[in-house]
Amino acid sequence: MVDRLRNMEVYGICSICGKAGKLYTCRFCGKNVCNEHFDFATGLCINCKGKII
Ligand SMILES: [Zn+2]
Ligand SMILES: [Zn+2]
Repeated sequence: MVDRLRNMEVYGICSICGKAGKLYTCRFCGKNVCNEHFDFATGLCINCKGKII
């Protein structure tokens, strides 16, 4: 039932803020970051989003 979501969600420590929680992998740098530091529209972490846009 949650298989689709599990594919891109990981549990661990955010590479940006160091908080533990559900993480998302940046398509550009491959870092795992929390939802606060991940941009769902682009699939990028805020670091990469800042560099590209
Ligand atoms: Zn974070
Ligand atoms: Zn990134």
